[in-house]
Amino acid sequence: MRSKIVAGNWKMNKNLTDTETLLAELSAKLPDTNAEVMVSPTYVNLAGATRALENSTIEVIAQNMHFAESGAYTGEISADMLLSIGVNTAIIGHSERRAYFGETDAILAKKVAAALAKNIRIVFCFGEELEDRKSGNHFKVVESQLKNALFSLDSNAWGKIVLAYEPVWAIGTGETASPEQAQEMHAFIRKTITEGYNAEVADEVSILYGGSVKPGNATEIFSKPDVDGGLIGGASLVADDFVAIIKAI
Ligand code: PEP
Repeated sequence: MRSKIVAGNWKMNKNLTDTETLLAELSAKLPDTNAEVMVSPTYVNLAGATRALENSTIEVIAQNMHFAESGAYTGEISADMLLSIGVNTAIIGHSERRAYFGETDAILAKKVAAALAKNIRIVFCFGEELEDRKSGNHFKVVESQLKNALFSLDSNAWGKIVLAYEPVWAIGTGETASPEQAQEMHAFIRKTITEGYNAEVADEVSILYGGSVKPGNATEIFSKPDVDGGLIGGASLVADDFVAIIKAI
């Protein structure tokens, strides 16, 4: 059975002290849950976070990783570096990486391959822009993002993939996709995977929704059958809000 997951995308927020404070608060307030809970502090605080959460069920994940093993890539972080500090999962393909750092589907396919080669689990983000939805192209865009980065994988690689559908127009805007819009797209994603692979692969993959999930809307979004949890930005920076979202699942 596929996992329920609530993952926090902290982005470029929280210095060392704030990170320690938030992790301590989350550890203290974490409710009993069957869902996997993940947090992603910035790179410089990842090692400290893995130590701070050593005895916790909260998993520390990275916001990004490079595709190369090592070498002349100033400012980048490799899969081995993550593994060496106990980080086994990385977010790949976030819309901010695509928009501000030029990460194309081809680059993302290389990152996915590099992560899988090291047995790193991937939270793969994708989703349409507002113009795509307005012009009715959202299904096409999502399908091509998915296929270009992931559909050359062997079916057994999908055990290491979590999908995060994040309509760009809903990220950090306060405007959430309606639960019906989320369900419609998640069902489409599952159908696309069934056609490209088979029903078993499609049924087993967790598909998270991301885009202005808050305590006030999480329950309704998570109640949809093809929504297996959330990738949470802003609300993951406030312990009580993140805990409320975990409780909602
Ligand atoms: C995100 O950045 O992945 C995200 C979903 O952000 P927010 O929840 O703030 O919209």
